[in-house]
Amino acid sequence: MKGNIDSSAGIDISGLSFSDIRVMTNTFSGKSIGERRNKKFIPRLGVLTKIGDIEVDVWCGLAEELIIRAGEEELLENLILYVKNLPWTHRDSKKEQRVRALQLHTSRIFDNPAWVSFIPFNEKWRPEALIGIDIIEITQSCCQMPGKVTKQQLEHYTDKIFCPHCGILTKYQFTNTALEENKPDAVVQITLDF
Ligand SMILES: [Zn+2]
Repeated sequence: MKGNIDSSAGIDISGLSFSDIRVMTNTFSGKSIGERRNKKFIPRLGVLTKIGDIEVDVWCGLAEELIIRAGEEELLENLILYVKNLPWTHRDSKKEQRVRALQLHTSRIFDNPAWVSFIPFNEKWRPEALIGIDIIEITQSCCQMPGKVTKQQLEHYTDKIFCPHCGILTKYQFTNTALEENKPDAVVQITLDF
């Protein structure tokens, strides 16, 4: 395993890609300084990536630089808004929400059709990302309203799926009865004209 990275000095950002700093897991460590009663524990929050365990503030700086280089600042703002509206993050600090959004951004979650928010997020901010994606209409036992999911989401979960309306994991039925009979041609493909 590679060592700790506590400064961006010496990192060649021009050679860095999103996958290099994609977060595999968060890390927590620290060191004690001082003697006896004056002993203090200095915590270190980090993220484990392909290039090493990067201190979280250093990592944020690197992620932001890559996002600016890609011209994706607006996409990041949209992700921050998305994170802010998640029911389990509204008590998080602004900084925590930003770190979470940066983690989502560097993992390119918006390009992954298995992501639970793939359709609503892209419908709102990046409709072009939905072109060529297989979208299936389902109705769930909780809300009884038609909702859209991707084929990859259905493959990821078996008989239950997160409801696009209320977010609860419940059983679903295909709205199009042809799909219940296993006819894959009932899958809809989105086409958009620009
Ligand atoms: Zn529901």
